[in-house]
Amino acid sequence: METNMLIGNSFEAGTDQEEMVLNPRTGEVIIQIPEADPAQIDRAVTAARAAFTGWALTTPGERAGYLLRIADAVEANLEMLAQLEALNCGKPIDGVRNDEIPAVADCFRFFAGAVRNMHGPIAGNYLPGHTSMIRRDPIGVVASIAPWNYPIMMMAWKLAPALAGGNTVVMKPSEQTPLTALAFAKILADILPEGVVNVIAGKGGSVGNALINHDGVDMVSITGDVATGKKVLQAASRTVKRTHLELGGKAPVIVYDDADLSAVVEGLKAFGYYNAGQDCTAACRIYAGAGIYENLVAELSAAAASIVYNNADDSLNEIPPLISPRQRDRVASFVQRAADLSHVEIATGGATVDGPGFYYKPTVVAGARQEDEIVQREVFGPVVSVTRFTEDDPVVDWANDSQYGLASSVWTGNIGRAMDVAARLQYGCTWVNTHFMLTTEMPHGGLKQSGYGKDMSMYALEDYTAVRHIMVAH
Ligand code: NAD
Repeated sequence: METNMLIGNSFEAGTDQEEMVLNPRTGEVIIQIPEADPAQIDRAVTAARAAFTGWALTTPGERAGYLLRIADAVEANLEMLAQLEALNCGKPIDGVRNDEIPAVADCFRFFAGAVRNMHGPIAGNYLPGHTSMIRRDPIGVVASIAPWNYPIMMMAWKLAPALAGGNTVVMKPSEQTPLTALAFAKILADILPEGVVNVIAGKGGSVGNALINHDGVDMVSITGDVATGKKVLQAASRTVKRTHLELGGKAPVIVYDDADLSAVVEGLKAFGYYNAGQDCTAACRIYAGAGIYENLVAELSAAAASIVYNNADDSLNEIPPLISPRQRDRVASFVQRAADLSHVEIATGGATVDGPGFYYKPTVVAGARQEDEIVQREVFGPVVSVTRFTEDDPVVDWANDSQYGLASSVWTGNIGRAMDVAARLQYGCTWVNTHFMLTTEMPHGGLKQSGYGKDMSMYALEDYTAVRHIMVAH
């Protein structure tokens, strides 16, 4: 197991306070990893700065070559990376093996192609005797900070467009899930020139805070909590750093009476509880038409109760535990406060699971109302609320009534209504008769306090490059 950080071309242990890395399935300590001290953080930024000049001058074709080699190396190390990610996050390994690691390789392959295919306005003589052209150039040193829910996938979403665009990176994984990032660092160091990627470990309040405030950093890219995003904005204002913010979500799911109930239930079982709901796009806030409400609650509750977890045979497990005892207790307290309301019924779940792992039962909170905390706040656990609406209720306004704006979906047999509602929803993504599906060619990112900045797609490459005008007098 790699515990050393990558700074320039050297692998070294952090020398500051040790952080415990826990196995969420057993509660046991996997390993203790010391965090980077201030001098190490500084050296990582210095290494990225030193590498920038050379890396920025490579051609798109050369950078594409590096990214393709990274993708191949991810596939060659698939089993090792999947085992580590499953261990650190408690994820069922088949999902990591079949979905997450292949998505990591695909992300690097996409940006290898994308950077060779950027388009824009044409060069021309817009003033007589002068030729103007547009360039897209790298921004500089990017501090990339990842959350714990999809550690290596978030690392790929941040590294691939940043590197393709010609930037160098100092990456900080979550202190709770550093294992795949440190293993990936070893792979990256064999492929990339010295200093192009640096990986340092440590907590947000110490190492993360030092990074986002470092004068040698030109851009901060963070996926995390809204409160953390606000801290990044404050830090960035000191030296006017660019920011790329992917913050929380509370996805509304509008189910009309004419929706296909079995497809809805199958979809919600998958998309509401995947990764134990620790997903910023999770289908967690259901609005069900009065005609479908009763059947939806009954069938969804049965489906949620059938979800397999904490089984000794991991191939049967569908969802992991929560990442930490703190996260499990936070989820439990949200559900308890909802259960205390007289109009709410906990239709299934609503309890922690006995044993050492950090499990919480897949839960359906029925009868929730728009103003309830369980409808308004991000729970980030295996908890789905269902709110009934009638034709007189402004359900699209309810869906939009949220500080978040990342993802949403509408389920109906009426395509005209689906298109009308999709146009009115204020979310970075709206799915029709599905939810949660991502593809590297399409952007992922939010509105409102879910942040801004797109991951994946050509839009991410735009985010990690700066538009420049070059004018030549003849
Ligand atoms: P978090 O904000 O606590 O931590 C995210 C990262 O930021 C970690 O690496 C952490 O160490 C670092 N960090 C924390 N405080 C910091 C500070 N003061 N300065 C610099 N860095 C700091 O979030 P989390 O608990 O790891 O992840 C869960 C959150 O992430 C949820 O709110 C979830 O919705 C959000 N999320 C969003 C997306 C998205 O694409 N929008 C994807 C995944 C997760």
